[in-house]
Amino acid sequence: DVVVVGSVNADLVIGVERRPAPGETVLGSDLATYPGGKGANQAVAAARLGGRVGILGRIGDDGHGALLREALADAGVDLAHLLVTDGPSGVALITVDTGGDNSIIVSPGANARLVPGDVERARPMLGGAAVVSFQLEIPIGTVQAAARTAAGAGARVVLNLSPPAPVPDDVLALCDPLVVNEHEAAFLLGHQGEPALLARELLGLGPRSVLITLGADGALVADPSGVTAVPSPKVEAVDTTGAGDAFTAALCLRLACGDGLADAARYAARVGAAAVRKPGAQSSYPGAGEELPA
Ligand code: ADP
Repeated sequence: DVVVVGSVNADLVIGVERRPAPGETVLGSDLATYPGGKGANQAVAAARLGGRVGILGRIGDDGHGALLREALADAGVDLAHLLVTDGPSGVALITVDTGGDNSIIVSPGANARLVPGDVERARPMLGGAAVVSFQLEIPIGTVQAAARTAAGAGARVVLNLSPPAPVPDDVLALCDPLVVNEHEAAFLLGHQGEPALLARELLGLGPRSVLITLGADGALVADPSGVTAVPSPKVEAVDTTGAGDAFTAALCLRLACGDGLADAARYAARVGAAAVRKPGAQSSYPGAGEELPA
């Protein structure tokens, strides 16, 4: 089983000709509301691929919360630990201009109320998982408590450093792997560089293994035995939103099945590539029966 501990957000998207300058008002398209949040994206992606998946997260008692719950339920995610807070759900306010550039404001809402006490109640679920997946859209103290609980019960901890933020050393030491893109790797190390060198330096920070995703160039897997390059299938990229979440979800699923890290990453790269062929995040994720690009 895979358990995702993370955020659940409604993505509110408006298309504009030009994003407004300070003090300016512009007219935009109809509002589109999509289920999102890195945690929910990963849970939906892993469940669609046929995994048994649970989520520990918080939604609000508003209309967005109902939509977010339904999206997770439709994918078959176990909702026993999807908690409800009095107040608003997390939302991302997204404006996209005709050039494809966007401006995003995230209001964490209920995600900010996922506290270490919630982890305690979810201990049986965390302890029963083979792999527990984390990202950084919930309070870091909650990530820390849940990672310790999961690892203490024998689960494998996977952490996506997204959005980039400092992580306590004891959490880094539990990661197997730490999953970063090039931007997040540079954030942790304080400099850019050749991906293979960055991977080795990241290993030096203490995680058991490291995975750097490289977009169309695939990914690098690093553990104490060495660095392995994993290719990405060539596809026509329509929208890369949520591709990293699909990658991590597929990775966790295969690790939970007992695959080695490089084999799991090869599968994850195919799922990530499938997710860039269609618009949106959750709407782009492949189903279990679907043929993946090779
Ligand atoms: P993030 O979305 O977190 O920045 P990446 O851009 O590295 O992460 O993408 C994550 C994964 O999605 C990649 O490792 C790859 O498997 C897949 N992917 C992303 N962009 C492309 C692309 N243009 N072509 C093929 N695969 C892609």
